[in-house]
Amino acid sequence: MIPVAGYAGAKVAVLGLGRSGLATARALVAGGAEPLLWDDSAEARGKAEAEGFTLHDLSRADAWEGVAALIVSPGIPHLYPKPNPLIARAWAAGVPVDNDIGLFFRSFATQDWDNFATAPRVIAVTGSNGKSTTSALIHHILQENGTPTQLAGNIGRGVLGLDPAEDGMVVVLELSSYQTDLARALTPDIAVFTNLTPDHLDRHGGMGGYFAAKRRLFAEGGPDRAVIGVDEDEGRYLANQMAEGAADDRVIRVSAATKLAGPGWHVFARKGFLAEWRKGRQVASIDLRDIKGLPGVHNHQNACAAYAAVRSLGLAPKGIEAALHSFAGLPHRSQHVGERGGVIFVNDSKATNVDSAAKALQAFPRIRWIAGGLGKEGGIGALGPYLAHVAKAYLIGHSARDFALELGDTPHEICETMAVAVARAADEAEAGDTVLLAPAAASFDQYPNFEKRGEDFIAEVQKVLG
Ligand code: ADP
Repeated sequence: MIPVAGYAGAKVAVLGLGRSGLATARALVAGGAEPLLWDDSAEARGKAEAEGFTLHDLSRADAWEGVAALIVSPGIPHLYPKPNPLIARAWAAGVPVDNDIGLFFRSFATQDWDNFATAPRVIAVTGSNGKSTTSALIHHILQENGTPTQLAGNIGRGVLGLDPAEDGMVVVLELSSYQTDLARALTPDIAVFTNLTPDHLDRHGGMGGYFAAKRRLFAEGGPDRAVIGVDEDEGRYLANQMAEGAADDRVIRVSAATKLAGPGWHVFARKGFLAEWRKGRQVASIDLRDIKGLPGVHNHQNACAAYAAVRSLGLAPKGIEAALHSFAGLPHRSQHVGERGGVIFVNDSKATNVDSAAKALQAFPRIRWIAGGLGKEGGIGALGPYLAHVAKAYLIGHSARDFALELGDTPHEICETMAVAVARAADEAEAGDTVLLAPAAASFDQYPNFEKRGEDFIAEVQKVLG
């Protein structure tokens, strides 16, 4: 754990007692502070009490006397669609509002670092899609190349649950827009921006607020190095703002769409090859086409971003290439589950919306597509341009019939359940086909979450594979 610095002897209120809230409470105690815990849910309060923490009702009129700060969990709205009432009370009482990410950046460096040969560093990854994959990939490449590393944030552990750094350690943090929006300290050594598409707009008051939240990671004078995906206007704008001129290599531009030119530092993927260019010359090239854990252009974007981040730490291209090959992929994101008679089975249960399903549908040449669940507003009409690779769709869940109507001429069959869909798709698949779960829908009609849906797919595939 990272003991929280700067609040010894002080009362610090913690709102939201999920995974990160409880980790924060423990880290506050370790740093000598007195945490005052609250959650609207009685169940969450019960868990905190069971761990021996004292609860403190923040809705009481006198609750804020002597409170030095309020630490808020990412799931709790602090501004839009409207502020949580307890956060509004903290404002009225003049109590600074922060989150665990802010506490982490204030507390991570310690005096022990004076004795280290190499100061520990932090790589922070944000963006609309590919954060988890890129963060996990950076962590994997570092591990494979013998760099001590830990992974946290939105993935794995809460940041304050990390172990204190050792000599030369690199901490990789996946940060959501909720987290970057509120943190009062955000000082990574390397900041990575993967891409931007509309998401969580209700929590940010629209696209401008959403982008502004992510941009905070790149505040002027912030990171030593900025790795920026430039396939959207927002990324191009950000890269331009961060760089002093075309040759400024504090910015590494990343693209999965265009060949980047100019004297700066660029990493891009074209036709399945990653290329690194610096000062107008090609430095390295990697064939990404056969890397099982990173199929599709979207994963090539993730590979480029991760490559750029670890190159900026000085890792050699050959070592990075080997690690790309051994990356297993994350569960439920383009996850290679198995193979039979030239048919590949892929679990992309995390493709819960049309955008991520579109990426998956472009990643494989001939697809037996398992889709459906709790459909989202707007339907799947926007997937029309991406259906060319679909040999047949096998539809499940609540939205099966609605999806069928929108599929038009694309062959499809209503299967209702995962078991039927996998069995039918496996039965009809020919060598060269990919049986792909990419639902373009939420899972809640049939499963508690997308993970359980993915696990069910894997279980059914295992039956087929025998
Ligand atoms: P995040 O952590 O940002 O949600 P994940 O790595 O968990 O990103 O991927 C979420 C979904 O988006 C998955 O379906 C995945 O296949 C897809 N995806 C992954 N990387 C990208 C990318 N660079 N661009 C678009 N979609 C992506």
